[in-house]
Amino acid sequence: MSSFPQPRPGILEITPYVGGKGGSGDRANIAKLSANENPLGPSPHAIEAYQATAASLHRYPEGGSETLTQAIARRFDLDPSRIICGAGSDELIAVLIRAYAGPGDEVLTSRHGFLMYKLAALAAGAHVIEAPETELRSDVDALLQRVTSRTRILFIANPNNPTGSFIDGAELTRLHAALPPHVILAVDAAYAEYAEGTPGYDSGLSLANQYENVVSLRTFSKLFGLAALRLGWLFGPKRIVDTLHRVRGPFNVSLPAQAAGIAALSDLAHQAAARAHNDRWLPWVKQELEGLGLKVWPSLGNFLLIEFPRRLGQDAVAAEAFLEAAGVIPRGMGSYGLGHCLRISIGTEAENRRLVQVLGAFQARHTLPGGSDR
Ligand SMILES: *Cc1c(COP(=O)(O)O)cnc(C)c1O
Repeated sequence: MSSFPQPRPGILEITPYVGGKGGSGDRANIAKLSANENPLGPSPHAIEAYQATAASLHRYPEGGSETLTQAIARRFDLDPSRIICGAGSDELIAVLIRAYAGPGDEVLTSRHGFLMYKLAALAAGAHVIEAPETELRSDVDALLQRVTSRTRILFIANPNNPTGSFIDGAELTRLHAALPPHVILAVDAAYAEYAEGTPGYDSGLSLANQYENVVSLRTFSKLFGLAALRLGWLFGPKRIVDTLHRVRGPFNVSLPAQAAGIAALSDLAHQAAARAHNDRWLPWVKQELEGLGLKVWPSLGNFLLIEFPRRLGQDAVAAEAFLEAAGVIPRGMGSYGLGHCLRISIGTEAENRRLVQVLGAFQARHTLPGGSDR
């Protein structure tokens, strides 16, 4: 017997998720590019709706976020009885795992897939199985090879954070068709609003509409600009959605989050502006950084993965320190097994230009004669 309380097996293997550095206050001299937030901020309508809830903070919110669910259903043309809202898609990832996977079960994901799948699986006592990727892209065959009778859920972020890569509709369909029916295919489409329109892109919604074992996850944290409020949703077969309602907290989404979410959904102009901003600046930042001699991976999200040479003083660790000293906060990728890379979000125009300028200065230290890199 131990002399102090012991958590369940697996819990102490969890390395707590650390969000992008830089905090949540807007600090004038800091360009926070570490958390894939919307550089345009929230919709003014969402702010107004959020503030209007202040006098009702003594009331419990709708337990099942019914009004918000109806609004999502209308906006995305879906059956509301097949939608569940959560405190961020993070909560829904955890609830899905808690409901379907436990000790002895396996949760399958891709080597550089979004970290929350692994953390939530460990918290539930399940085993995490990782399939290798090809060129930082989920590999359908490698994933399928790792499916066993113990596999409960296969998570795939499409596009994936932090790599930015995606698998197209044909591959997603092939993956689903080869999966045994007892395995849930969870397509995390957190960046769908940025990716839609790219030829071949598939958020998993139509598979989730057709099959008993597919769900698609979405969030208000990225294009909708409501990360602080914690709001996400899942669309899936009725059986799974009903199951998740039994496992979620009774009032899992706060009143301000529900109100702001409804208002944000109807602000089509703000959504279009956020998309247009990303469409304009992501290719610009990518091209400028490539012009500095850096490798930048293609991305369908609102972020870019930048690869640095593995040479002391020129590597990602040095670049991160250099950027931070100049007030630009990137996301280090060590926890994703990509320690030679940094991820940056697309910021405001001024932030993007500053990023390029600071990385230009960093690169120049090595290319100019008498560079100070040693
Ligand atoms: C940001 C992100 C989420 C969203 O998480 P929330 O809990 O909704 O803020 C989910 N999946 C991926 C891949 C992400 O990058």
